[in-house]
Amino acid sequence: MAFHLVGLGVSRGIAIGPVHVLHRGEVEIAEYHLPPEAIDEEIRRFREALEVARAQLREIRTRIPPDTRADIVEFIDTHLLMLEDSTLTVAPEHLIRSQRINAEWALKQQRDALVEVFEAMDDAYLRTRKDDIDHVVTRIQRILQRAEEAEANTAPLPLEGAIVVADELTPADTVVLQHQGVIGFVTESGGPLSHTAIAARSLRIPAIVGVHEARRILRDGERIILDGQRGVLVGDPDEGLLSWYEARRLEEQRRRSDLARLRARPATTRDGVRVRLQGNIELPEDVQALIEAGAEGVGLYRTEFLYMDQDRLPDEETQLETYAEIIAHLEGLPLTIRTLDLGADKSPAGTDGTPCTNPALGLRGIRLCLHEPGLFRPQLRAILRASALGPVRLMLPMLTNLDEVRQVRRLIGDLRRELDEQGLPYDPRLPVGGMIETPAAALLAEGFARELDFLSLGTNDLIQYTLAIDRVDDEVAYLYDPLHPAVIEAIHRVLRAGERNGTPVSMCGEMAGDPALVPLLLALGLRDLSIHPAALLEIKDRIRRTTLPPRRLSDHPDYDEITAFVTALTHTQPI
Ligand code: PEP
Ligand code: MG
Repeated sequence: MAFHLVGLGVSRGIAIGPVHVLHRGEVEIAEYHLPPEAIDEEIRRFREALEVARAQLREIRTRIPPDTRADIVEFIDTHLLMLEDSTLTVAPEHLIRSQRINAEWALKQQRDALVEVFEAMDDAYLRTRKDDIDHVVTRIQRILQRAEEAEANTAPLPLEGAIVVADELTPADTVVLQHQGVIGFVTESGGPLSHTAIAARSLRIPAIVGVHEARRILRDGERIILDGQRGVLVGDPDEGLLSWYEARRLEEQRRRSDLARLRARPATTRDGVRVRLQGNIELPEDVQALIEAGAEGVGLYRTEFLYMDQDRLPDEETQLETYAEIIAHLEGLPLTIRTLDLGADKSPAGTDGTPCTNPALGLRGIRLCLHEPGLFRPQLRAILRASALGPVRLMLPMLTNLDEVRQVRRLIGDLRRELDEQGLPYDPRLPVGGMIETPAAALLAEGFARELDFLSLGTNDLIQYTLAIDRVDDEVAYLYDPLHPAVIEAIHRVLRAGERNGTPVSMCGEMAGDPALVPLLLALGLRDLSIHPAALLEIKDRIRRTTLPPRRLSDHPDYDEITAFVTALTHTQPI
């Protein structure tokens, strides 16, 4: 019978194929002492292993396809540089000689010492370099133990068409495996910032990370479906499921190549109504895909992803650097930075992850930020400072009352004074907007539209809270209905409030990325959508094939009017 495993989808797309489990786990390190006459031979063995490691990496580098993003090549170059660095080459030799120990043990001691130094660093980026040390050291250890032959890096080609399931993958593994024809990655560890995730996205290979115990549950050779968008693996799929996913996969492939031609064309309906299409990003490297899809800016930057793979929260300067990098990459396109929306399903690393009874209703989003100024102030300062570098907008998540907006405005006022005193520039007209994603905010839309510079409909949460359905609980997934009249009424109410107050309203929840809903959203009055870059061209295509529906909802529609409106626009709109 079919079963599901859930992880974090980090690279979209569907892959269907046999599992190839990489059982590499930890390398067993032998520890032994050597007689004095064996020392020179041991050092020669160590040097030889270093040489083999260099040769392997150089060989991998030559196999990187020319259109691979620079940062993947950089990962490998960094590893090559490390193999030349005396801390990894000379220092272990000293240990072999002074302690008369074997090369594996010397290398392990040196690795532990280096990792300790990196872990103590304040700089979040440098701390992640510890992973690079581990990747390089593991490669040398495996060469020393002659264990590498059976592995991916040197494996022949039984991997063609396979979905690789591993504990973790190095960037080099990712490139090589793709070269060997692997069609999907599943790892037990890792987050959205893990190297595998970054590499998979840029190589456009569907991937899911954080699937605990995947190697124990999945068997070599068994056929699985990997849905990188939903973060789901389907094991033992029946014919019905297989053909459904296969059809989606083929359609996706065909559409992707067809749609590329729309990149530079405007998102305009047949009758000339212009829609602005922006993209949602989670990481700075997502900007490239967004630009390639022809997006008109970033409508939602989920900054909490900056925090989730770290064991400490990044400071103001680190945040500012990240924002500056994105702004530079956007070359004048607007960037909407959403302040931290930690809590609920996005638990912060480095903060006290004390479980609470109902996290979705707990201290999340703006509540957490206002509760912890130590977390919020550096981010607000970084956003203000970033606003001097390009067109930035600030957006607040999870609002439920106007007092939250007023508190933030006061805080921004204080921080502006602070920045003035320090002579640090910012844009005094930085637009401050808010997500409308709770029923309270939708009911109070009029007030929010008056007090904020723009509104954005976060339908993922708006649906969850309006319908009392946990968005991450599959048991109630069948009730998660974007077309429920209560949801449509909430959206309609917010759009009307925006129109009356001259406040722009956009939509950045997943609803905006569903092509079947385009006519309905246009008829409701939406002209500004922010979606995942991978869905952008498809939505543009749908807009360009749509004529603005003549139907509009009345100011105060009842249940039957909404139901008829939804039915007409989701079932009969000609395309
Ligand atoms: C939403 O809730 O619709 C939204 C865009 O925010 P997130 O998915 O990050 O909660
Ligand atoms: Mg939300």
